[in-house]
Amino acid sequence: MPTTPSQAIIRGLPDRPDITEINIRSGPGTGYALLFKAPVGLSAAILDALPDDAGNGFQGKVYQWLKLRLPDGSEGWARDDLLDLAPGDHTACGYPVLGVRTFAFSLVRDTSKRPTPPVEPAAPLWIPAQPAGSVAPAGPAEPVEPTTAPGEPPPTAEVPAGGCVGVVIGGRESINVRSGPSTRYGIVTTVPRGTRLEILDLRPDETGGPLRWVQVPLPERQGWVREDLLSFQGADCATAGLLPAADLYPAPLALPNYWWVRGYEGALPAHNGWDLGAQIGEPVLAGPHGGRVIIAFNASNATPEKPNVRDHGLKVGDPRVFSDPGWGFGYGHYIVVRYTHDLLPAHTRSALAAAGLPGAAIFVMYAHLRDRAVAQGAVLSPGQIIGTCGNSGNSEAPHVHLEIRASTNVNETSWARLSRGLLDPGILFKR
Ligand SMILES: [Zn+2]
Repeated sequence: MPTTPSQAIIRGLPDRPDITEINIRSGPGTGYALLFKAPVGLSAAILDALPDDAGNGFQGKVYQWLKLRLPDGSEGWARDDLLDLAPGDHTACGYPVLGVRTFAFSLVRDTSKRPTPPVEPAAPLWIPAQPAGSVAPAGPAEPVEPTTAPGEPPPTAEVPAGGCVGVVIGGRESINVRSGPSTRYGIVTTVPRGTRLEILDLRPDETGGPLRWVQVPLPERQGWVREDLLSFQGADCATAGLLPAADLYPAPLALPNYWWVRGYEGALPAHNGWDLGAQIGEPVLAGPHGGRVIIAFNASNATPEKPNVRDHGLKVGDPRVFSDPGWGFGYGHYIVVRYTHDLLPAHTRSALAAAGLPGAAIFVMYAHLRDRAVAQGAVLSPGQIIGTCGNSGNSEAPHVHLEIRASTNVNETSWARLSRGLLDPGILFKR
């Protein structure tokens, strides 16, 4: 039987009339992202209640946070010292039955109680992260049943033949969705990493920035996300101009277990590859058609206990590191895999020809590894684990530096001699 959720009223700080709105966050603590601000005086339905995530409080009383749904349908968490409770029955969220509007912080909440959020028979905000290889179905979705068991995997669907889905890879935990295609527009919500978003539209940055923005569906309005914060999946992404081709190699770390840190900015001293952040130990995968290990380099200074230059009292970027084989010339432990021309996507082959390297092989370095799982000379099977993400060498956070160099000399084994063939990894890889 559906129940009417009890109501809270945005109280603000009565002794600070200059404060006319309060922060609404993505979770029960000030460590969560600010989603939007809500005006003082507004009433909102209480969907959930939890104690402060960090145990913070005032004068020995731990703050309680209430998840609110505002009249416009937006949802988020507010702290109880900024709220009143409306008259009514609040027992579902652990408060008493109130005859008059009451300051929420002055009440003691039974923290064992949490209301059952009302379920709207509407399409979901977005399809939560799903196992690799499945994406949200296009078109109207079935309403998602409330899950009583947290952590239970959401329903999955087969990959559609067409369509274009963006998997959130930007941000360690979440990214901002804005009301228009530039950072000039306000943030309407945040979306966690791994979320699959249907792509509705693509537009240039309105302030002239180099990166484009894609439109994604939200319940009340559409939102906009910068293109480099998503990994695009689906045949229609290439048609839409979001990918140069649908047949590019996938990123060497499995979705959604990596996050986008930094792209290609040119030859050194700019950044000459891609940085993909991941947890230490995340498997690094060979390309989808196999390849051959040309170099498996052990950086002798990078010990398991002290893998990077900072562990040895050096600054990241210290020029001595780049000439020191003990640091792998900055790359730490690394693997170089050769993908011969016949193993490359058609798009990559024509791009190589256009770059004056017809028929070239591509040599890919996977750097800053913790472990190397393959030996020099090994012939790889498709998608084989070649090592794990680490923080070795000239590195200050766990990540994989992906760098590619092309050469028409298929027998080249010197990384330095390959430097003339340096290319943006986007010629071969999807983000
Ligand atoms: Zn890098």
